[in-house]
Amino acid sequence: MPHVITQACCGDASCVYACPVNCIHPTPEEPDFGTAEMLYIDPQTCVDCGACVSACPVGAIVPGHRLTADAARFAEVNADHYPDAAPGDARFPVNANWRLPMAPIDKPTALTGAAPDEVRVAIVGSGPSAMYAADELLRHDEVRVTVYERLSAPFGLARFGVAPDHESTRSVSELFDEIARHPNIEIRLNVEIGTDITLDELRATHHAVLWAGGAPTDRPLQIPGVDLPGVQSATSVVGWYNGHPDFLRATPDLDTDRAVVIGNGNVALDVARIFTSEPDRLASTSIDRTALTALRSSRLREVVVVARRGPEHAAFTMPELIGLADSHRRVWVDPAELAGVDPADHDDPTVSAKLELLHEIAARPKPAEPFIRLSFGHTPVAVVGDERATGVEFVRTGTDETVVLDAGLVLTAIGYRGKPVPGLPFDDQHGTVRNDAGRVVADDGPVPGLFVTGWIKRGPTGFIGTNKTDSGETVANLLADAEAGALPKPDGRAVGV
Ligand code: NAP
Repeated sequence: MPHVITQACCGDASCVYACPVNCIHPTPEEPDFGTAEMLYIDPQTCVDCGACVSACPVGAIVPGHRLTADAARFAEVNADHYPDAAPGDARFPVNANWRLPMAPIDKPTALTGAAPDEVRVAIVGSGPSAMYAADELLRHDEVRVTVYERLSAPFGLARFGVAPDHESTRSVSELFDEIARHPNIEIRLNVEIGTDITLDELRATHHAVLWAGGAPTDRPLQIPGVDLPGVQSATSVVGWYNGHPDFLRATPDLDTDRAVVIGNGNVALDVARIFTSEPDRLASTSIDRTALTALRSSRLREVVVVARRGPEHAAFTMPELIGLADSHRRVWVDPAELAGVDPADHDDPTVSAKLELLHEIAARPKPAEPFIRLSFGHTPVAVVGDERATGVEFVRTGTDETVVLDAGLVLTAIGYRGKPVPGLPFDDQHGTVRNDAGRVVADDGPVPGLFVTGWIKRGPTGFIGTNKTDSGETVANLLADAEAGALPKPDGRAVGV
């Protein structure tokens, strides 16, 4: 029975490289890799060898016969990605040349050309993009990596951004732990670049500085009333329930019947799911204990996740919707919101599959409280309230009709945003450091020895594993510069922190 990729898919494509018959797609070389919501196994080509299971860092792949009931739908999701496949008809022929240079290799490889005998690389940040970059760099004996992390614990969003009930996804930290045990890497915690050490000092002591600081702020929602008490960002709540030291006081007010979440990406779904989960089920997770106590006395009966566009544009991904529908189950859609929405009108199979599942959810009876209601086509125009938020005024998108939804808690979940890094050229429109495939680019061209990866390079999109390919690209360019003798020679004294 073929193997199946399930909800926790992180997209790092380790399975793609492990598979001997090239049955997992899209591969990083294929155009749809950047936009895919997960990777899919072709059931007609899979030889059931299990190599992908060992390679997956988050335990997302299971043999079909071991699928649990709440993950059963993923067999169909994988197969539907290969609609034209017939038995024995491999969609993509096995090809010895299709692997990227970043595919796993057993032995370290030597740098060539004009590369220095020792290449010292500073990585700023220790989240997924930083750790995947370190992994790539450490495949070369000449490279020494020092990771600088502002917080007292490493791994960034893998530790403080993934929902506590997504335990498989959180297990990617075990891979990062393994990378951190390499003899040629050192992780320095509690060091903030710009405060404890300047960027110039780092550059003076390393051949290359790789900025992997992520997108640490929220996109601001600019509507009247958004500064009222009772309004906060969903990401502050994520930090709060994950014990992020910056958000220990970001306790949301749960002494209210209804919370409204503005935006319907996966962050919105994560927060809504945690708010509507049985606290006893959360107790066995890594959730912050103070947050768990607060959730135990929550009075919430409904969390409404509101999108400004229609369901065909939902920002949440299919794996997360399946998780809500089949595992969490406390989710509902008002059938009236789906009137006239026909999955068959959409060519994109992911969109039509999402719409079919939304119709299925809408046809169910309302779940027990507290539950999540997914709502569409409402653009927020103001947060209502005098001394604190009492609701949100929306306009039905594309009309003049306004609707007020009462709520004592309002969360904005409209995406992350990168912030300018002193000393690095910033693209204000995209919230990224200006770069060309990871090489930092100033007005007069690439800046030798300065690189970026992760969300500060490409913007806040994709999954944890997306950073593997992204960092692979940056590191390939960094090493190419090393071999071309294009990295500046560090001549400063070592910084003792
Ligand atoms: P996101 O996926 O970009 O979603 C942002 C949402 O905010 C969209 O619904 C967007 O609507 C809406 N929005 C933006 N501006 C708005 C405005 N002015 N008024 C009202 N709505 C507005 O952001 P995210 O949820 O923060 O996720 C960031 C990335 O992390 C994504 O790639 C996500 O998949 C990933 N992530 C993954 C997981 C997981 O795999 N479990 C968990 C968390 C995050 P429009 O579409 O109309 O612009």
